[in-house]
Amino acid sequence: MLSRTSKAGDNVVTRPHEVSPHEFNPWIHVTSLIEKAGHVLGLNEGLIKRIVTPERILEVAVPVRMDSGQIEMYHGWRIQHDTSRGPGKGGIRFHPSVNVDEIAALSADMSIKCAVVNIPYGGAKGGIKVDPAALSRGELERLTRRYAFSIAPMIGPDRDIPAPDINTDTQVMSWIMDTVSMLRGHNTPGVVTGKPLAIGGTLGHAGATSLGVTICTSAILQRLGRLANEQRVVIQGYGKVGAPLVKLLSERGMKIVGIADIRGAIHVPGGINPLTMSEHYKEAGTVMGYPGSDEVPAEKLFTIPSDIAIPAALGGAIDAEIAEGMAASIMVEAANGPTTGEGAAILAGRNIPVVPDVLANAGGVVASYFEWAQDLQGYLWETELFQQRLEKTMHEAFNHIWARHQQLEVTLRETAIVVGVERIAEATELRGLFP
Ligand code: NAD
Repeated sequence: MLSRTSKAGDNVVTRPHEVSPHEFNPWIHVTSLIEKAGHVLGLNEGLIKRIVTPERILEVAVPVRMDSGQIEMYHGWRIQHDTSRGPGKGGIRFHPSVNVDEIAALSADMSIKCAVVNIPYGGAKGGIKVDPAALSRGELERLTRRYAFSIAPMIGPDRDIPAPDINTDTQVMSWIMDTVSMLRGHNTPGVVTGKPLAIGGTLGHAGATSLGVTICTSAILQRLGRLANEQRVVIQGYGKVGAPLVKLLSERGMKIVGIADIRGAIHVPGGINPLTMSEHYKEAGTVMGYPGSDEVPAEKLFTIPSDIAIPAALGGAIDAEIAEGMAASIMVEAANGPTTGEGAAILAGRNIPVVPDVLANAGGVVASYFEWAQDLQGYLWETELFQQRLEKTMHEAFNHIWARHQQLEVTLRETAIVVGVERIAEATELRGLFP
């Protein structure tokens, strides 16, 4: 699957796929951002190419015996982008649109994200091209275990540590952990994170991403001299990240005036009550119909009069049109890759600061780091210790990015990528080139 293309007058550059210059390709997008950061740092071309190029790409066939008795074939990948700072870290997603370019791009994002929050990991990502909703529980377990078996030579507590991502959860992590433990002949809890507490998970993991987003939101408000209790917030997504955000931001005095899920969007000028919303959602399975809310077209969510916009659902949601119409004057990216290149340029042109995903939603990977550390120690931390360390790590990361942002005078996203690339470059140079 891996193809190689040459740039004129240049050495070979490894790219997962060739694409037309007009087609949006997440891999080309992320690598161009890394290359740009390398140039800002004055790194030599050879080092930039080394940092951009994924270290390992494994493609696996995943045969599954379906409940009908027939064999169905699926394809999966595990990619280690960079391991100069530590073992690879990154989720596994099950989705019909999964492809090698997407996984490669997400693995590079993970290299940057782990470096931005300064945890001792490199970047990795994996996935299977499959619609898990079409599988029975037994089929899903067999698919997961066969995939885990196939990528087992590449993963491990000191090599590469997967975690949940889109359509994978604590149960999928449990099956991967069990499959690898059976293969190795001993319990290997540190091979994945996002496990249930009963088999080596951690206290505090649920909601860690949202806590990190909240810390970044409060931190940017403080830097801009704005009061939390004067902020109106709109959130796209009411899932594992969006739902806890409603509570955490409200606790800090912010008013959630708009929210959307896959079924549509609502406007609540007086603010959403987190408890009432949680109860409504349990009953209705959607945010739509929240008492006292006005329904608005989904694409109008970000035009609701507000101060802070938080995309917490889809990649690519903030395109040029949405960015043009955005009412808020700050955006905090809870989702992964929610802003297109054009959307980002428009927000920058409108002087709307954006706390980028690689910083804002890194609470999840920091929580994974703590889970892995506890597995290696064989010692469960108390919730207070977990939260205290999570908050410290996120605050330090935000403070560092903000200080560099002031010096570099580029966007927070560009600053974060510069900081990430700088740390990866330092590790790469210190280690030297083998052999
Ligand atoms: P989730 O599946 O739990 O929730 C997704 C939410 O988005 C749901 O409310 C869904 O209805 C909504 N949604 C889906 N399509 C939509 C649409 N077209 N318009 C509006 N809303 C829509 O997912 P999650 O775990 O909350 O993840 C959300 C985002 O955050 C993703 O981009 C994910 O990659 C990112 N992220 C999650 C974590 C984590 O810890 N879960 C960590 C880092 C980043």
